[in-house]
Amino acid sequence: LLSPSGEVAPTIFAEISALAARTRAINLGQGFPDEDGPAEVLEAARAAILGGANQYPPGRGVPDLLQAIAEHQRRFYGLELDPEREIVVTAGATEAIAAALLALVDGPEDEIVVFEPFYDSYAAIAALSGARLRTVPLRLPGFQPDPDELASAVTDRCRVILVNDPHNPTGAVLSDEIRAQIVRLAHEHDAIIVTDEVYEHLAFTAPHVPIATLPDAGERTLTISSAGKTFSVTGWKIGWIHGPAELITAVLSVKQFLTYVNGGPFQPAVAAGLRLPDAFFLDAAERLHAKHDLLARGLTAAGFEVHPPAGGYFTVADACAIGGADAAAFCRELPVRAGVAAIPLTAFVLPEHRDAYRGLVRFAACKRPEVIAEASERLAGFR
Ligand code: PMP
Ligand code: GLN
Repeated sequence: LLSPSGEVAPTIFAEISALAARTRAINLGQGFPDEDGPAEVLEAARAAILGGANQYPPGRGVPDLLQAIAEHQRRFYGLELDPEREIVVTAGATEAIAAALLALVDGPEDEIVVFEPFYDSYAAIAALSGARLRTVPLRLPGFQPDPDELASAVTDRCRVILVNDPHNPTGAVLSDEIRAQIVRLAHEHDAIIVTDEVYEHLAFTAPHVPIATLPDAGERTLTISSAGKTFSVTGWKIGWIHGPAELITAVLSVKQFLTYVNGGPFQPAVAAGLRLPDAFFLDAAERLHAKHDLLARGLTAAGFEVHPPAGGYFTVADACAIGGADAAAFCRELPVRAGVAAIPLTAFVLPEHRDAYRGLVRFAACKRPEVIAEASERLAGFR
């Protein structure tokens, strides 16, 4: 299903990272930071490993992490969760997405409605589940959905409205109106909202608003996040999902046969991270925002038209003015010609919708300022 050529097709991230390594280009493709996360969190992992936390953790997650997730959701959003029944720790957000979709949908009669462009695993897991993916385009300016298009996409066949806010790859943050409409539509059509909020602490224009905090949303919302982005530890793959106990039971039923459990010693370390003072979280967003600004200046000077993000790791830029009207071809050449790697937005859309996003390129801004400055210089010189 996922491998029409008969071979394991690399993900777009693996493909571009390999190209960047081969050409020694600066890799602004795959989104991972080039600096380690907070020392307290790294130390806590070391202490857990040396302290013997190296065997299978409990199926739902280490109790201290479940407690820390509940405390975090109360501190930042006023959400009240039962750590024993309403949360499951997963192998990154990736497993949470997979377990949630596989638990909720059941074959070709079911539909998953998703905004497009979308994070690559969404379509892959939809394919594994057998459900039909129905897309609602995000459009410029602002990469927002059209409320009428959203309304007509959600029918009684819709089992899941899959949301990602702040959004990868566009950097969009949903408006309050669209969030409220999603909740209304979920009620009208008896759908579940699965919301991927891995960039919750990297929102630049306003504090993040989880859909689960909206009136009447909690009873039908599964919220996903991950330590990877917040604490710059993408390789640890500690994610979590929370929601009503009966939905979480269904998710856990799937998760226990995907990975069973994961990341024993990293779980207490992430608990320590989630308990860091507010200043840590605010500073992380501010620092990343400054990196986006630096990147935007470099891209603009190089002739791109930048669409500044409201959150997340990525800046999208239009390359049409500098010969990138076919961004897929442009991104294949960019590492060789300019020594910089980036990802075309067409990698995040269904093949039949590529035309609408043809000239757009995604750049990761989660890199040290000197790396962004060097990438900018290379881009400025290559035209
Ligand atoms: N969802 C989105 C929107 C992402 O950007 C990513 C990571 N790039 C993930 C999920 C996967 O997160 P994790 O590494 O925690 O599995
Ligand atoms: N989430 C990262 C990105 O969007 C990469 C994750 C991956 O390689 N699967 O770039």
